[in-house]
Amino acid sequence: MQNLPYIILKPGEETRIISGHPWIFDNEIAAIPEDAEDGWLVLVKNSAGLYIGVGYLNQKSKITVRMLDTLKEPAAVYLNYAAIEELLKDKISKACAKREKITNSDAKRLIFSEVDSLPGLIVDSYKETLVIQINTLGMEKLKDTIVKILDDMLEPKVIYEKSVSRSRRKEGLEAVHGELKGKVKPVKITENTLKFNVDIEKGSKTGFYLDQRDNRDRLKDYVKGKSVLDAFCYTGGFTVYALHYGASEVTGVDSSEEALETADKNVKLNKLKGAQFIKSDVFEFIRQAGRDGKKYDVIILDPPAFSTGKKVKAGGMQGYRDLHYHALKLLNDGGVLFTFSCSQNVAMKDLIESVKETSRGVKCRVEILGQMFQAKDHPYNTAIPETFYLKGVIVKKKA
Ligand code: SAH
Repeated sequence: MQNLPYIILKPGEETRIISGHPWIFDNEIAAIPEDAEDGWLVLVKNSAGLYIGVGYLNQKSKITVRMLDTLKEPAAVYLNYAAIEELLKDKISKACAKREKITNSDAKRLIFSEVDSLPGLIVDSYKETLVIQINTLGMEKLKDTIVKILDDMLEPKVIYEKSVSRSRRKEGLEAVHGELKGKVKPVKITENTLKFNVDIEKGSKTGFYLDQRDNRDRLKDYVKGKSVLDAFCYTGGFTVYALHYGASEVTGVDSSEEALETADKNVKLNKLKGAQFIKSDVFEFIRQAGRDGKKYDVIILDPPAFSTGKKVKAGGMQGYRDLHYHALKLLNDGGVLFTFSCSQNVAMKDLIESVKETSRGVKCRVEILGQMFQAKDHPYNTAIPETFYLKGVIVKKKA
């Protein structure tokens, strides 16, 4: 079988790649085949002509090659197309095996892009339904092979593609969604014994915020007999946990009518009582609640990513300061704030700094009780800081 085309790196550029960073930028490449087409699989060679790995090419992207596999040391080997299929099978089975220990949910992320050496590919499993998301041109070209491997290996009843991320546009791809196998339907999942309706087609992301699973459970130490505000509640993830762990009342606020309808259904599905849902902009809601003299014992702030680029980080931090200021005011003395950021470029220390700064304006003292991260099925690759995106802190407003 035919060997794959190859690119050659400039001297010394392989060091970072070999240490585990899977992106090659255009200024690091000495030679690309003249007839190269975007989306091609390419072998990557160092300046001495030794093989260091295989990736896929897109000269339209600043990240010219994304690696699928990298050797620990350069070697004189050649891969052909058949070897790629074996490589993909190996990556997929390792990614699935990594999540086998997660038994507290029947919905989980199986493949998380660069973290699983499958850049541009997300696969979430909701019981017998797999939802796949393809974000790059190179992965788009491998889609049929990937879907076949997933189908053979996991035998799902339904495979649904939900490739609708904004990043596809940068890769020259349109948004696409639709069934690749079977007929997609809303599903009911069980997470930490609690049940949730998930609308895969219409919901955000692949339908549910799987990455918050472990953090929702952290409510158990703080909510018994307490009044809770779940701001940006989506389909009621934190609300359901709060009621389950004994909250006396929970107010869920979100701007999406559809999400709130599902949130209400999710409370009923778990035979819980004590929630009210309000359709509102959270920024307006917290101001009005302050004017009305409302107080809460526990407040959860789980906003969408405000800040996606470095330039807009300052604006994003202003959003957090605003939320933290009003949330700290709305908390009773001794109350607890769960605050999250899913913006890749907002670090844990930025979040803590924002709470600290705003506490001065509110004239209260705060204490950090804990830090939170994305759930275990979303591990992060230390070579790519972007893969560590969800952070949260548990803050106590001291009496
Ligand atoms: N906490 C949720 C996930 C929140 S996702 C969970 O555990 O499942 C963010 C949510 O914020 C989305 O549901 C979106 O509809 C909502 N949202 C975005 N901007 C908003 C705003 N300004 N006011 C109210 N809700 C907003």
